[in-house]
Amino acid sequence: MKTPAKRIYNSASVPQEDCVFCKIVSGKLPSYKVYEDDRHIAFLDINPFSVGHTLVTPKRHGETLWDMDDHEIAEIFKVASKVSMGVVAAMNADGFRLMQNNGEAANQAVAHIHVHVIPNKMEDKGKFMNRLKLSGDEMAKVADSIKSEIAKIE
Ligand code: 5GP
Ligand code: ZN
Repeated sequence: MKTPAKRIYNSASVPQEDCVFCKIVSGKLPSYKVYEDDRHIAFLDINPFSVGHTLVTPKRHGETLWDMDDHEIAEIFKVASKVSMGVVAAMNADGFRLMQNNGEAANQAVAHIHVHVIPNKMEDKGKFMNRLKLSGDEMAKVADSIKSEIAKIE
């Protein structure tokens, strides 16, 4: 891990025992999970920018990208790439966006490292994307179809 010259302020910072994503990792809070390996999980964003919007997170708690070593950084982006293939296939999307927010100034709302995988259709091009709210049934269906597409990869 490298030592940054400056610290990042994050108002979302909480003690680890109160971290929402740690609770999702441990199963104390429910989620629509689409992928899991030894060190990562991926689950649907509760308030997606597009249907299929997925979050990839390391199981180990850390607040920002700077809390990961180079190997962990490489690994999470490899997982995000794999997850993106499942998301794009399941949603029949035409492209996808990766987003990774660090700190208050970058709108980071959950202070546990995560990479957003946001599928885009051609008709989304140039449009501002609003947050959506899907029913539990819709979320479960979307998660199932992403999970089965990810399972086909490799
Ligand atoms: P950030 O702004 O920190 O990069 O993104 C945090 C994301 O986590 C937001 O897109 C938000 O909708 C999502 N989120 C916040 N709380 C929960 C939760 O309890 N469950 C799930 N699945 N997503 C959440
Ligand atoms: Zn955490």
